[in-house]
Formats: sequence, structure tokens, C-alpha cells
Amino acid sequence: MSTKISPELYDVMAKLISFDTTSRNSNLDLIEWVKSYLAELGIDCILVPNEDATKANLYATIGPSDRPGIMLSGHSDVVPVDGQEWSTDPFALAEKDDLLFGRGTCDMKGFIAVCLAYARKFAEAELKTPIHLAFSYDEEVTCAGAKRLAEALNGFPIKPSMCIIGEPTGMQVVTGHKGGYSYECTLRGFEVHSSLAPQGVNAIQYACELISFIRGIADDHRENGPFAEGYDVGFDTLQTGTIKGGSALNIVPGECTFEFEFRILPETDKVALLKRITDFAHNELEPRMKAISPEASIHIEEYAAMPGFELDPGDDVISFVRSLAARNDDIKVAYQTEAGIFVQDANIPSVVCGPGHIAQAHKPDEFVSIEQLQLCCQFMDRLLERVRA
Ligand SMILES: [Zn+2]
Repeated sequence: MSTKISPELYDVMAKLISFDTTSRNSNLDLIEWVKSYLAELGIDCILVPNEDATKANLYATIGPSDRPGIMLSGHSDVVPVDGQEWSTDPFALAEKDDLLFGRGTCDMKGFIAVCLAYARKFAEAELKTPIHLAFSYDEEVTCAGAKRLAEALNGFPIKPSMCIIGEPTGMQVVTGHKGGYSYECTLRGFEVHSSLAPQGVNAIQYACELISFIRGIADDHRENGPFAEGYDVGFDTLQTGTIKGGSALNIVPGECTFEFEFRILPETDKVALLKRITDFAHNELEPRMKAISPEASIHIEEYAAMPGFELDPGDDVISFVRSLAARNDDIKVAYQTEAGIFVQDANIPSVVCGPGHIAQAHKPDEFVSIEQLQLCCQFMDRLLERVRA
């Protein structure tokens, strides 16, 4: 056990890692454990469950409940370890050379552990500004947890005034990220023997026209913008990632499905972008397909949506979080977090700042360094000073 972080932080972290909260599993064992941990500190919490009550968000308030506070947010689920070669048991915290290994150490149970270790300090201090803890489910798959939590927050008499999401940023202050949207497109054509090709509707070929059209939009945005400063790729990207279709060369393929995605700047109108694609599909391609076979169709479905966000450069929240992180800078990133949901759905200004580096997330032998956890603890010490009476 490390001597460089508090025994309580180490123990909480070890406990959190021991729950296999891979997104396909229930997170309730972890949530119940956190609930009783907080109860021992005299902190009440409410659970916001999913539809079939197999998973839950946890929301707790420390300090006065009659005014808005600062929400510390993390997701309780982790990505699978399937097919990964780990040197240690991914669900048992292991320490080596000042690094703590285990699934979720970096993304993002390390941050949740720091929040819980500091819950005692927040609870013992007299706070003028409350601290809210918000731990979600399903961030790694659909963000359904954060969406439900945002809905619940909208129903509360008092909402948090701001949110700090502890996703791994190396404790850098992230004040904006792109939005990410995923789509599945299914084309139904009309199967015939390939010798009779003109009597069939070739689903693959129509899919290719649509994919080229999407590629054309991507090229247009790359050349003509919008452009934004501070991102590694400072313009919108659209791309097709998978395609399936056809059964044999001598059969005109009757079905083709492909997946495409947008990674777009917060200012880009997603609805308008999608409309360009659906208009082309339904007004250009589909009539040509239906002229041969009335049953032919194109169906496009959004299956994941992570809105982007960007704080105004002069927003007080930025200077506040910079001061907690003891930094004078902030950055923007291309990966998605729940920040976009809290901003878009609940109108809560959000910043992403947490221990560990995104490069270590989702990998075998995932780790967070003791040094990063120490920086996060210093961040919490400064936060405590700012919120105590
Ligand atoms: Zn994460």
C-alpha cells in the first residue's frame, strides 16, 4: 500500500476497482457500497435508476441544500478487458513504481476515489457552497446515465451552478470538446441473379453513393470550415467506419448496412448536417431505387449522441477551475465526455479536469500515477478552501 497517498484514498480506490462495472454489467453493487460509505459520513444521497432498475446514478449533496453548489462528476462504468493481456488482475488494485494499476484507475475511478476520500473533509467542514457528488452509469456506451441524471437535475428545486468532470486530462483544464454522433444506415435493395443486374437494386452500390456524398461533406468542412482554435483537429470530421453487404458475387446484393460518424465542433448544427445526408438519401437515391423496386428503402438511425460544448473564454468558471488546478491555461479536446450532456440538457456550465492521461485509458495495464492523484488531492484542498464558510 502506498505511503504517498492517504490510506483512505488507497482503500477506497481498491474497493472501487474490485467491482467489475464493465458497462454491460449492473453497477448497483458499487453504487450501494458508495451509498453506505457516504451514509457513515452522515451524507444522504439519492439514486436515479435506469428503466429496469439494473443500474443507477448516485447524487449526493454535502453542505447546505438551499443554494446551488459545485458538482463533481464521474462515471462508474468501465470498458471491457476482453481480449486484453493484463500483467495483473484488472479488478484488483496493484501498485508498482508509483503507478496504480487496474481497470478504471485512470478512467475514472481514481477521480471518484479522490471525491469520496474528500467527502469526509467536506462533511466535517462548514461549507458555504455545497459540494454535489454525481456518479453515473453507461458513459462508455450510450451516456444514458448522464442523460437521465440531467433530466432529474432539471426537476430539482436547485441545480448545481457548475460541474467538474474528472475524466483523465492530466489535471489540465478542458473547457471544450467536440460532439460525437454515430449512425447506422441500412439500405434495402432488390436481389436478383447478377446476369439480370438492371432488374435488381444493388444495395451496395447505392450505399457507396451515399458514402461518397458523406465524404464530400467532410471534404467541404475540411476546406471551408468552420474552424476553431485549440483543437488537435480544428474542423468537423465525418467518416464511414464499417460496411457490410452482399452474399455472393453472382447475386445483386439486396441489403447493405454501414456506420458513419460525425465529430463536430460545438458550433456546428448537427441537425442541418444530418439533413443534408437524409435529403440526399430520400430525395435523390431512394426514388431511383424505388423506380425499380417499390420495396427498396434507406433507413438512417442515430444510435449514440455526445454533444460537444465550449465555454465562453471569459466565463468565470474557467478562472475558478484554473485556480483550483493552479494553472493559467486551458485546452480543448477531440474526445467526448458527459460535459456536453450536462451543458446541453441541464444548462450547467462544465469543465473537464481529472487525474491520469487519456492515453492510458481503455488499455491493458491501465494505470494512474500517484503523482496525478496527488495533484488531484491538491485540487480538492483548494476547492475545500474556496467552499468552506
Ligand atoms: Zn471516461
